Amino acid sequence: MRKFLLSMLFLTLGIAICFGQQRKPEETEVWEPVPPVVTPGPWHQPPSDAVVLFDGKDLNAWESVNGKGQAPWMVMEGYVMVKPGSGSIQTKASFGSCQLHIEWKTPIDTAGLYSQERGNSGVFLQSRYEVQVLDNYRNRTYSNGQAGSIYKQAIPQVNACLPPGDWQTYDIFYNAPQFDGGGKLTKPAYITVVHNGVLVQNHTEIKGNTQYIGDPAYTAHGDAPLQLQDHHNFMAFRNIWIRKIQD
Ligand code: MG
Repeated sequence: MRKFLLSMLFLTLGIAICFGQQRKPEETEVWEPVPPVVTPGPWHQPPSDAVVLFDGKDLNAWESVNGKGQAPWMVMEGYVMVKPGSGSIQTKASFGSCQLHIEWKTPIDTAGLYSQERGNSGVFLQSRYEVQVLDNYRNRTYSNGQAGSIYKQAIPQVNACLPPGDWQTYDIFYNAPQFDGGGKLTKPAYITVVHNGVLVQNHTEIKGNTQYIGDPAYTAHGDAPLQLQDHHNFMAFRNIWIRKIQD
């Protein structure tokens, strides 16, 4: 009996080896399509296929959200500053799924300012979905409204804020939502956010348009501008670039 079992075992092994040998490593190599060559930029600088939205010189790629006139913010040396009360700005171009790099700096003067009052702005993907920009360096606020949150929807995994006056980075990877012909949501938006090199949102599902009051809900849309929020603070931005990506 033992002899029989052993011979069966060797037979099975033999068959497995034979079949294994029929497959070749080349069979699982995929050569087409060939990914296009992209030349990466130096650290944080735009790669060769990026659309540069702000390079420190002018706001030609931007317009006012109110009235669509010239973007009313102040271009300084190498950065742009919110002109509080002038309104939010948006890109003239529209975007869908994208990779976005943006750098921001919150005001040093924090005296008497707490919670949402300190260095508040926001990056609105497709004019609707806000990645909160806020000074949360030793400044507590509601967790789903702090820097790196999807405002009022998703708490960041960690607080990676640098002190006021330091330049901070967001690298955002965003998959736009999809809707059918009747405007019904067929796939929600997903977002990954890296704050100062630290992952804070990991493929987070977006629940709908950002709402200050009430629950988020989707309304059908196509490509739409990127917006930056005027929340009445002297916020600075620089080095803004975007890449269209495949879902
Ligand atoms: Mg905000």
